[in-house]
Amino acid sequence: MSNTAINNLNVAKFGGTSVANFAAMQNCANIIKNNPNTKVVVVSASAGVTNLLVDIAHTAMSKEQIRQKLSEIDSIQQAILQALKNIDEVEPKLQQLQSSLSELALHEEINHRADLKDSLLSHGERMSSLLFSAVLNQFDVKAENFDVRNVLKTDSEFGQAVPNLEQIAIAAKQLMLPALVDSVLVTQGFVGSDQQGNTTTLGRGGSDFTAALLAEGLGAETCEIWTDVIGVYTTDPRITASARPLPELSFEEAAEMATFGAKVLHPATMEPALRQDIKVFVGSSKEPEKGGTWIVRDCVTEPSYRAITRRKEQVMVTVKTPKMMYAQGFLQKVFTIIAEHKLSVDLITTSEISVSFTLDNPANSVLKRLNQETIEELGQFCDVLVEENYDLVTVVGNNMHSAAGVSSKIFAAVADYNLRMICYGANPHNLSLLVNDSDSQDVVCALHRALFE
Ligand code: ASP
Ligand code: MG
Repeated sequence: MSNTAINNLNVAKFGGTSVANFAAMQNCANIIKNNPNTKVVVVSASAGVTNLLVDIAHTAMSKEQIRQKLSEIDSIQQAILQALKNIDEVEPKLQQLQSSLSELALHEEINHRADLKDSLLSHGERMSSLLFSAVLNQFDVKAENFDVRNVLKTDSEFGQAVPNLEQIAIAAKQLMLPALVDSVLVTQGFVGSDQQGNTTTLGRGGSDFTAALLAEGLGAETCEIWTDVIGVYTTDPRITASARPLPELSFEEAAEMATFGAKVLHPATMEPALRQDIKVFVGSSKEPEKGGTWIVRDCVTEPSYRAITRRKEQVMVTVKTPKMMYAQGFLQKVFTIIAEHKLSVDLITTSEISVSFTLDNPANSVLKRLNQETIEELGQFCDVLVEENYDLVTVVGNNMHSAAGVSSKIFAAVADYNLRMICYGANPHNLSLLVNDSDSQDVVCALHRALFE
């Protein structure tokens, strides 16, 4: 078989809740069966497993505590294994993974070496993909478990590895396409390998990104993201019960939403889709009959307001130098440091002697460490003020800075709240407000009422 593309290829990704247990996996098997174009399946770790692995990787624990966490992971996977008909075939492979997992978990340097952490984290997806391929076989879908590390090549930024697109495209066509003729490949989201072959990971929630990257590399037509909600909503339904699912979204809108905190999609997911014009579907594996959201290049409608997102745990950094008025290159220096730490800045305002910007600051993440290093380096040549306890609320839509009345409606809705920073995006698709975290829920509700209800 030559390495030519397969017509109408669909890559389907199933999130942690979709592969949480045998019954959930059974729903996914039906979804795969119902679409003969689904030839590549990307899975997350079973719900809860990655969090347990992150605990082991990040927290200093006694051997006893580590064993406790391992046994919690084990009982999640055992429950699935025991529901299989061909236990004998799968069990030795699962045991192998469990023993390499416990070896890493009990490694003396597990809390201190990023490469070991990534190897440890990869076990969640390696176990779920092994089990899910067995579930598919049991439901008469010929499936093979495929090690994504042979294809998903990255740099060596453990915990937040950057994919190498050329290598992925070549390897995906060479190693995956030929196998797709007569079988479904079940592979791991979130996991990759660097140039030396060390295991890497793409950052939390990275399985969506994996699916989009493989879809791109394989020249797929569509990429389905199956999760536990029936699509992308006007806002997080946990914030307001008035939130409603969206039938369609543009690539740009979806990218903005993911970047600014919508939890349904990993922020980088839309990049490959945009480059290759791959239609992305988001739906619930529990209720596939309810449909979902299609994310496409050209939508039927282009409303001024599409959705509202919230991103928590923002810090606002203000750097100040009395010399800024004269010092050309000050901004450049500031942003070089930020770039060197691979941080992305979302909001910026400047005055004559200061620059303020926001950084994402989720607890326990790689970003948190990078933020600290960045702030220390900035402190060497200017005054740095760090303010915490902010959330970012973003209205996503179209022609946000040109259509008359678009922003005035937004500001009228939030007139009662203290807005620490207001920013139009560099593109016409967002307007962001930095607010006190204690206000953010109310701000989202007020905006949702004014713009959507
Ligand atoms: N299992 C990983 C996580 O929980 C990746 C993913 O599910 O997308 O972050
Ligand atoms: Mg996810």
